[in-house]
Amino acid sequence: MSLFATDQFSTSHGTVLPVLADRLRGTKFVELPVRSVINAPEATGMGFWSLNPYVGCEFGCSYCYARFAHRYVVERARDAGTIDASAFTDLGAPTGLESFEHRILVKSREGVLAALERDLLRVRRRTARDGAQSILIGTATDPYQPAERQYQITRTVLARLLDEAGLRVGIITKSPLVCRDIGLLKQLSQRHTLSVYVSLISMDPDVTRLFEARSPMPSVRLRALARLSAAGLRAGIIVAPILPGITDTVDQIRALLRAGRDMGARFVYPSPLRLYPGVRQRLLPILERHFPMLAPRYLAAYRNGWDAADTYCRAVRRRFHRLATAYGIPDIDGGHEHADGEPPRSTQLSLFEAA
Ligand code: SF4
Repeated sequence: MSLFATDQFSTSHGTVLPVLADRLRGTKFVELPVRSVINAPEATGMGFWSLNPYVGCEFGCSYCYARFAHRYVVERARDAGTIDASAFTDLGAPTGLESFEHRILVKSREGVLAALERDLLRVRRRTARDGAQSILIGTATDPYQPAERQYQITRTVLARLLDEAGLRVGIITKSPLVCRDIGLLKQLSQRHTLSVYVSLISMDPDVTRLFEARSPMPSVRLRALARLSAAGLRAGIIVAPILPGITDTVDQIRALLRAGRDMGARFVYPSPLRLYPGVRQRLLPILERHFPMLAPRYLAAYRNGWDAADTYCRAVRRRFHRLATAYGIPDIDGGHEHADGEPPRSTQLSLFEAA
């Protein structure tokens, strides 16, 4: 039986995209015309080029900072008349934060291919001027989220990158669907320096489910890591975000690194929580309900902005470094790109714990 039903959704421009009827939550996929698909480093403030085939993500993590970006993209496309905003009205506010998980904007395959020609020209020019460039796929939304099973925009991008050479390509995902493309990834790794970042914040399924509504369980992601490693690909773990007082304990980190090592992780990249306004709105109610002692401490620790204190960031990185070394994982930066686009912030975990 097909996973996909015949239920259809029409945009105002006549494009008809199927709706996954087995998604009881009523997720709809809306085609998004694009003119550009690779974001330049100067446009994002990150030290690398970035690419996200989808806007929105069904995994629905409470800490996901991309919710506001979804809202912005929807509003901009609606005002430009390039999407049918009626697809969003059954969620209450047309551009509410819930839309992020239930209305997935799929960048059109033709648009993406055309945009890649233009964007890769810019990347090649920059390479000629500055040397090898990094492109990170999945900096905002998961490139192997459920939509990719059907629309294959990520696969389309990767296939196009086979025509290029000498790039540093990184892929960030929580999904075992990445293993579908192992053959393609192996070809890519012949032409580029390729790293696959398997995103995992904790080995504890209860913690995972509390903060990530519908993401694959840790064991599933680790099996994917093992398959990638067994295929000879450079794969590791990105721990983003580290949740102070919850996932930054020695026991939590040890469990993660031990499992990662056993599955062939070549690197680990830790990144502490950033409490952006949209994240605050989703995360704090969970903390108040399940970690009532921590909620006021988060509020105090993040009272001056969305970053944790530098002292905390440095301390937690040191802890990862020490433990990763003990588990034989030598690289704690991912090697080629920094997934949050900033130099490693490297001093004590005193805000949240004494250890
Ligand atoms: S998997 Fe990534 S993109 Fe998707 S909701 Fe979670 S943090 Fe956001």
